Amino acid sequence: MTGISIQGLHKSFGGRTVLDHVDLTVEDGEFVCLLGPSGCGKSTLLRSVAGLESPEGGSISFGDDTVFDRAAGINRTPEQRQLGMVFQSFALWPHKSVFDNVAYPLKRAKVGRSEIQDRVREALMMVDLWEHKSSYPGTLSGGQQQRVALARAVVGRPRLLLLDEPLSSLDTNLRAQMRREIRRIQQHIGATAIYVTHDKEDAGGLADRVLVLQDGRIAQEGAPRDVFVSPKTAFVAEFVGFDN
Ligand code: ADP
Ligand code: MG
Repeated sequence: MTGISIQGLHKSFGGRTVLDHVDLTVEDGEFVCLLGPSGCGKSTLLRSVAGLESPEGGSISFGDDTVFDRAAGINRTPEQRQLGMVFQSFALWPHKSVFDNVAYPLKRAKVGRSEIQDRVREALMMVDLWEHKSSYPGTLSGGQQQRVALARAVVGRPRLLLLDEPLSSLDTNLRAQMRREIRRIQQHIGATAIYVTHDKEDAGGLADRVLVLQDGRIAQEGAPRDVFVSPKTAFVAEFVGFDN
């Protein structure tokens, strides 16, 4: 298992600061929720951790491994960072079967055929979809599609799991069920997780620790209960308040 250490991460788009020298540490095996309103920089932060953005300053380490350091000119590719990522849109290939969707990252990494078979079976059994291995995504429910995306994210046994609003398009009952499933899988594979959401229920139901992001800065962090019951600023109070 591997923790994450982010220091002084800075990113702007067109002269507008989106990440304002963010410092953030995630412990080995910890499940952290990054919570904040639309546009506060959550996806940009997650994409920076994944290697999908190039911040203008700062550094990111996974354990002892520096994957990004602007000043030192280090910027590992997403593949080199060995992480699993799940998006709101699922991002499955409609023309590939469930099996081939999940197998894709292993094929890209040139894993052998029999190992692919074993690992895809294990990942699909983990999300209880092995019997749907030959189905196409379009024939599955939204919850099933998101479980395929989850299986694809963990099939390479990533040390880090990054999730960007993965449940936003699902209905309330399914969300509660999927939260339990996500936590179970994260614990089973022993990954460190960052989960981005604007949904307080998601954060409260999932997180070991919540970080509230406001305009590219961390406004407050702590156990979900502490943040929700004792907000430190008017912004946090308004955003997480029980009256909203
Ligand atoms: P969140 O995920 O919290 O909704 P984002 O990280 O997606 O926020 O975006 C933060 C801000 O950065 C928004 O104002 C958004 O419009 C802007 N932004 C994000 N990506 C880009 C981009 N590729 N080009 C220009 N502006 C962007
Ligand atoms: Mg976003």
